[in-house]
Parts: sequence; C-alpha cells; structure tokens
Amino acid sequence: MQTFHSESNPELIFLAKRHLDDRNLESIFITSSDDKIHMWKALTNILMTARQYEFSFKTLGEASEIEPEIDLKHLQEECREMLKTINTNEPIRIIKSPLIPKDIFYHGYTTRIGGVSSIAGLKSLNLLYITKKKDPKIVIEENVRRVAEAGNFKPESFTTPLVDHGNIVWQTGTPKPEVYDGMVTVEQGITLAAPGADCLDLIFADPIKKCCGVAHSGWKGTVSEIAKEVIKKMTELGSNTQDILVTLGPGVEGSCFVLGTKDAQKFKDISLSECLKYNEKDDNYHVDLFKANLKILERNGILPENIDSTTATYCTVCNPDLFFSCVRDKTPFGNQFGYIGLHA
Ligand SMILES: [Zn+2]
Repeated sequence: MQTFHSESNPELIFLAKRHLDDRNLESIFITSSDDKIHMWKALTNILMTARQYEFSFKTLGEASEIEPEIDLKHLQEECREMLKTINTNEPIRIIKSPLIPKDIFYHGYTTRIGGVSSIAGLKSLNLLYITKKKDPKIVIEENVRRVAEAGNFKPESFTTPLVDHGNIVWQTGTPKPEVYDGMVTVEQGITLAAPGADCLDLIFADPIKKCCGVAHSGWKGTVSEIAKEVIKKMTELGSNTQDILVTLGPGVEGSCFVLGTKDAQKFKDISLSECLKYNEKDDNYHVDLFKANLKILERNGILPENIDSTTATYCTVCNPDLFFSCVRDKTPFGNQFGYIGLHA
C-alpha cells in the first residue's frame, strides 16, 4: 500500500501513474466523493491513456443527478504547470556534433534522459506522440518543452515528419505531402526534427547557403535513398554539395540488426553489397546502416571530411541507458530525435 500526498490533484494522479508504471501495473480503481469523481475522471483522461490502463471509478455515495461542471481547459493548464515542476533524476542530455557551426545553426541528438515519460520502454524522454505509444499528448509536450529549453529554441517550432519509411522530402513553406521522412528549410527559427529508435537520423547543414535538413533513415529509408533526396532538395535550393555538412545519429549497428534474404537483396540492388554480412547459421544478413548511409552520402557528392560519423553514432540496441530501440524494447518503444534549425 502506497500513500501519496499532494495539495495538487494533478500531481496526485501523476505520482500514482508513475508508481504504477514503475511496477508495470495497468489497473486503476478510483473511489471518491460524488462531487469529485468527474474531476478525477477528467484528470486521468489528461494524464493517462486508455490504451495503457484499465480504469474503474466508484463514488462513495449516490451518484449525483447533476454532473458538476468541469473546466477542462483550466484543468489541462493545471496539469501542464504541474508537469513543469516534476523533477527527474538527471537533466536533459543532448549530443552535439562539432562539425555544425554554432553561430549559424542550433542542433542536437536527444537521448532518453531527462523527460517525464514513465511507462516502460518510453522512459523518460519519449518525443513522439502517436496514440499507440501510450504516452499522453501532454507528457510529450512537456518533454519537447524540456528539450527546447535545453536546446534554446521555441517548443512550438519543433517540426516533425509524417513518417512512412520512404524517401519523400518536404520543404517548409510548401504544401505538405501526405507522408514524408525528410525535411529541408531555409527559414530561420524552424526546428526540423527526425525521429529514431534504431532508424538513423541524419542532420544536414549548409553554412554557405544557410540551408538545413533532416532525414529519418531506417533500412527502408536507406534503400530508397532518403539521404540522396535531401541532398537533391538542398541543391535545388542553391546548395553546392561540397558545402553540405552531414552528421549521422544513433542507430542500430550491423551486429545488432539482421534482414532476411529478400530484404537484404534491396541493398544489393543499389550497389551496397559491402554493407551486408551473410549469416550462414540463420540464413540472413547483418546490415550496416551506418556504412550504407555513409556510402550514399559520399557517392552523391558529400565530401568525407564533411561527414561526422563518430560523435553520435551509438548503437541504440547496445545502449539501453541512453537510447530507445524498437529491436530491443518492442512495443511500446520511445523515440529520440535529431534536430536542427537556423538561428532566428
Ligand atoms: Zn549493438
């Protein structure tokens, strides 16, 4: 039996949620006086998701005929303010490449450290809101706010792609495609952010043209050559390939990632056989996505000295304290992001 005390009702629910999440418990029974039950229902709605928990509510007396009015907006604001005050064991940790000039761009690769997500697999800095991931929107918003504060940009500028593991690139200010895994911009103050959790995030920066981009490049993105498409879009905007700087983010390394023969063939089809290692025992292939993306960058005109393939290229599977991994964590798994923007 655990007792929580707080003068803030949102905090009480949040503390209880964290307690349950730490123990992988999913059933919640709330009992309260008649006049408060609607408030508790609303609070659980804001701070928890029905996908993760089973709720039951019971009033102590007869249910009142008239439902008390709930000021939902006010309650949400209270929750938002409460989340700002939640202490984490460690501050946000962002990895930055020395290659990207700080006077023109701000950028970074987030880790899983320093957020308020508490569900196993999402702990603690999950930055992607999709309903099946079970983190409520308000928690993601708080995580983005913390990253923005640490990275010195506006949280509302955090712009994420509509991921499809393809090679479509969207340029900000133009009509949005239905799905896209890459983004480029020449506008100041827009934070382009690509998700990863084994899939690599690539960050592109041209300090001469003052243009930048990101790519979400998992194995499907790699074989559809998303990196090449981002370079193409940047050159259309006036960049010279020899001026483009690229950093490779965290992702799954070759020894931790295998594909079947049919999928591995797609790497051979684009002349990337050297990124495959046949595994006789299981009749599959170890795939080196770092090497594959590096090759794609180089053969599309990016100078080797303009690629940082060391600072942030941790293996996501082998570093559970630092990074989310779909291969390792299964569902739900969180997402870290690589982001870049031009200083306003
Ligand atoms: Zn590994």
